[in-house]
Amino acid sequence: MQKMVILGATGSIGASTLSVIAKNPESFSAYALVANTNVDKMLSLCLTHKPEVAHMVDAKAATELKQRLPATLNVEVTTGEDQLFDLVSSANVDTVMAAIVGAAGLLPTLAAVKAGKRVLLANKESLVMSGRLFIDAMQASGAQVLPVDSEHNAIFQALPDSVQQNIGFCELESAGISHILLTGSGGPFLNSPLDSLSSMTPAQACKHPNWSMGQKISVDSASMMNKGLEYIEARWLFNAKREQLKVVIHPQSVIHSMVQYKDGSVIAQLGNPDMRTPIAHCMSFPERIRSGVEPLDFFTVGQLSFLEPDFNRFPCLSLAIEACAQGQEATTVLNAANEISVAAFLQNKLKFTDISKINEACLNYVPVTSLGSIDDIIALDNQSRRYALEMVAKA
Ligand code: NAD
Ligand code: MG
Repeated sequence: MQKMVILGATGSIGASTLSVIAKNPESFSAYALVANTNVDKMLSLCLTHKPEVAHMVDAKAATELKQRLPATLNVEVTTGEDQLFDLVSSANVDTVMAAIVGAAGLLPTLAAVKAGKRVLLANKESLVMSGRLFIDAMQASGAQVLPVDSEHNAIFQALPDSVQQNIGFCELESAGISHILLTGSGGPFLNSPLDSLSSMTPAQACKHPNWSMGQKISVDSASMMNKGLEYIEARWLFNAKREQLKVVIHPQSVIHSMVQYKDGSVIAQLGNPDMRTPIAHCMSFPERIRSGVEPLDFFTVGQLSFLEPDFNRFPCLSLAIEACAQGQEATTVLNAANEISVAAFLQNKLKFTDISKINEACLNYVPVTSLGSIDDIIALDNQSRRYALEMVAKA
């Protein structure tokens, strides 16, 4: 029985994880659920999944949850940063699903890595920010990190065992690999007239053609910043060089990414676009369990198509690729700027096309210092946020 902590339990990945646990109750249990402020959702999750601990990051939300939970349920309600770090490091816990959105996921995810837990990584932002430090912490503690992000999960599944066992440090070339082909649908604006992008609304940006996801990642998919963050995530997970990583637009989201070998073989992982597949894969690896996802029907799919990314349409993608080449300082600045610009867009304070402009301005103007510790990373993240907020105020 694997006892799991679900960081970000009230979100989209949280819901999919709980549904896979519910399908496989003999092997997995939701020991603890963690969320930020949403008491209604957490209360209903507690009633359904009966965890031992419910942790609310927001202290007021924790108090309200305590009052509203029926005493008969026996759920311990906690709050506070140290309590959260203790929870993910607890001896009662085997596996941590890291599915908090954004930079807020960094410290709890890293705490789980340092405690040597099996970490199922959905929170790509933590790797984008802390890259080298994250991978080093993994090696120091012996934590097993498995990629939940569908593309990285697909790549992982298409890699040889020797590489799978050596995440973060593998040598792609000596394993016979020439390229990692990171696929992306191109999002809802792939074919929209370029001059219409500036007037796109948050509702239009969040209407992904294939995936149902949280708001932030949905906007990131519309700008392809999501693919940019995934490019950086792949760089760290698979120790990939620039010339080994390629982005391929594949509008149907049936192939979730591919690995190209030097003998000409390409190995792809396919499936319906449903996060329960990569989540179930990570939960049970190296075994397989039921996820509840419908089998892929090739006759319904019909066609698979592929395009080169248009960097003119998706400037955020090229910003991320350039930042990745510059290093961890630039990717931390970009990630923080993007969280601010996306939040401002969602609040109707910015045009869709301003997102990339603010992100680029932060990359150009925030002075970068070299990052030796997590405190340095958080300081640089804060600096970039402040600059981005000033730009939002002027927009
Ligand atoms: P979501 O917005 O649906 O849920 C976010 C969760 O994070 C919520 O449970 C919320 O309570 C929690 N949260 C937010 N701020 C927090 C804070 N300050 N402290 C603690 N918890 C906080 O997001 P999502 O779509 O489930 O995405 C979660 C993560 O998974 C993101 O990093 C995203 O990039 C990644 N991811 C998501 C998908 C997907 O299909 N949704 C796919 C791949 C990767
Ligand atoms: Mg993805």
